[in-house]
Amino acid sequence: MNYTLLRSLSRPRLASWALRRFIATKNVVPDPMTGELMPPTPDIQPNLLQITRNANPGTPPPSKTLVFGHTFTDHMLTIPWDAVSGWGVPEIKPYGPLQMEPSATVLHYAQTLFEGMKAYRDETGKVTLFRPDMNMKRMNNSARRLALPTFNGDAFLDLIKRLISIDKHWIPQEPGHSLYVRPTLIGTQKAIGVGPPNEALLFVILSPVGPYYASGFKPVALYGTTEFVRAAPGGTGAYKLGVNYAPGVLPQKSVAALGYSQNLWLHGPDHQLTEVGTMNMFVVFKTKDGALELVTPPLDGMILPGVTRDSVLTLAREHINGVKTLADLPENLIVSERTVTMKEVKEAAQEQRLVEMFGAGTAAVISPVDRIGYMGQDVHIPTGADGMGPVSRPIWTELVGRQWGKIPSEWSVVVE
Ligand SMILES: *Cc1c(COP(=O)(O)O)cnc(C)c1O
Repeated sequence: MNYTLLRSLSRPRLASWALRRFIATKNVVPDPMTGELMPPTPDIQPNLLQITRNANPGTPPPSKTLVFGHTFTDHMLTIPWDAVSGWGVPEIKPYGPLQMEPSATVLHYAQTLFEGMKAYRDETGKVTLFRPDMNMKRMNNSARRLALPTFNGDAFLDLIKRLISIDKHWIPQEPGHSLYVRPTLIGTQKAIGVGPPNEALLFVILSPVGPYYASGFKPVALYGTTEFVRAAPGGTGAYKLGVNYAPGVLPQKSVAALGYSQNLWLHGPDHQLTEVGTMNMFVVFKTKDGALELVTPPLDGMILPGVTRDSVLTLAREHINGVKTLADLPENLIVSERTVTMKEVKEAAQEQRLVEMFGAGTAAVISPVDRIGYMGQDVHIPTGADGMGPVSRPIWTELVGRQWGKIPSEWSVVVE
């Protein structure tokens, strides 16, 4: 039986069933361009890893001087891919410039996607990652969306751990510090045609970072942007693609000029709240019968499925279901993934029912909001003396406890 024969089968569902059986038994995959059946190319193979030590290792700078994303460690991880031979030899080598041709498709059509996660080191020297499996899944989803090659997330994670363990002395000892891990995948086909690239490069760089809030939480002011959108229905907002970020810089500059620190991205004629800068967003309302409702927009294709977002929701739901009650988190809590509009936020503020609002993401963990500039007026949002609110405070405490390994949890993954 061959592919042409299968295609000629008159009943499409039978043909698709037979094709899937054929693929399963013959160990072949359809070529994404031509549909021709090919043997699968090799996945990432950690056992092929080659390590070249940096002969001129740097000195980690004093942690006080660290600026987010400006300092990199001695080594990086690279794994090349091409359509014929699949994933190639993984290399850990000195951090340094990449070589590519000016025709490389990433430079023209933004064939680039990334992840962001952190490695933490506790007082005993144990290094951990936080829910890295979620980053691996999300990165594969992003790769699929850009027609870039996917990979075995466990194999890639193995190699990331090797890289981190080689450079772990770059994680500053001071509390609140960590190593920001930036996996990136780019299309490097040497031809300026728009299509799935026949070459790609997966790489990882590491950057030591200080605590986001060096001296307590500082609530931020947002500007409810009606002029620009971050994401749209059917667009790419739900994926961590480079293409989503460059267009956000101009709106960010223009709100900074007005004295606000981030864009509050709104969607649709009813100005639905979606995300804050590059963070997911949560609002807490007091309901008419006195309960507290923690609300975040649903994953409708415009929202980036954040690991921090999922962690906040999971902790709040565990609390409600009595799986793990968090000290000081209110008893009468409701958790909703639903649409929130600016009208609802304004009304709640007027009726003293707006309890708090915060952004959530790996970099800041939780970022309280105290003001939204919207249509020429400021909506004020309460914050506690420490900058946080009654829902974010206990959730933040539990979350960073788990990230730092102070509170044991299966979310914390040890780097051997
Ligand atoms: C990365 C990111 C987030 C947060 O995701 P985390 O996994 O929690 O770091 C939220 N929104 C956008 C647009 C992002 O790029």
